[in-house]
Amino acid sequence: MSESLSVQSLSKSFSTSAGDLEILRGTNLSMTRGDSVAITGPSGSGKSTLLYIIGLLDEPTSGEVEIAGEFPLKFDQAAQARFRNQKIGFIFQDHHLLPQCTVLENVFLPTLATGGQDSDVQSRAEQLLERVGLSQRLHHRPSQLSGGERQRVAVCRALINQPLLLLADEPTGNLDPKTAESVGSLLLEIANEQQAMLICVTHSRELAGRFPTHYELSDGQLVDATNAGIK
Ligand code: ADP
Ligand code: MG
Repeated sequence: MSESLSVQSLSKSFSTSAGDLEILRGTNLSMTRGDSVAITGPSGSGKSTLLYIIGLLDEPTSGEVEIAGEFPLKFDQAAQARFRNQKIGFIFQDHHLLPQCTVLENVFLPTLATGGQDSDVQSRAEQLLERVGLSQRLHHRPSQLSGGERQRVAVCRALINQPLLLLADEPTGNLDPKTAESVGSLLLEIANEQQAMLICVTHSRELAGRFPTHYELSDGQLVDATNAGIK
């Protein structure tokens, strides 16, 4: 089975009091397993909208999203939720961890939906947390962690179901530059190790420059900006 992503002619408009706001205008994107892509663009250019549509958290006005040979936007809600859980990991700007759950619980929470609540899951969660240097924090609550630590927990949670597609929406946006650098490197490294497809939206041109491919979202389309910083 194909293990790729194909975004075809994606359009998205929002109706506002000032009329229709056309955010995405025929956006295209193709990736295969192991590819990592950074997306930059001005605030309000539609980066989150694009990521949410690819992550099945929003619907386009028109266009197709094909993931691993399937067209999940056409699925009913339950099938879409299942697909999202199995194939997609999402990392938000502000971690979205559950405050009442421990670090370990937050990481294996997505497996409850996929019925994977076994000892395997627990050990995978522990391995992931060890991988990001949080072995000593398994039973802490998010409020007891630093911003960078919370974001590393969010990375582990996104990876627990071994997703094909890892989507990160400004994952380092709330972190100081040094912590942002380490979380950014970690994302790239782990996506590469697991041969996931990574799409990372970022404001940081420095971080974008470290991705093999870098697109700029401009006028609702993705424009190749790879090597744009090296002139
Ligand atoms: P970015 O992530 O690049 O900053 P967004 O994708 O969040 O941009 O938003 C793109 C534009 O779409 C913005 O102008 C935003 O105000 C508008 N927008 C986003 N969501 C909605 C919505 N649900 N209703 C109306 N307008 C929206
Ligand atoms: Mg955004």
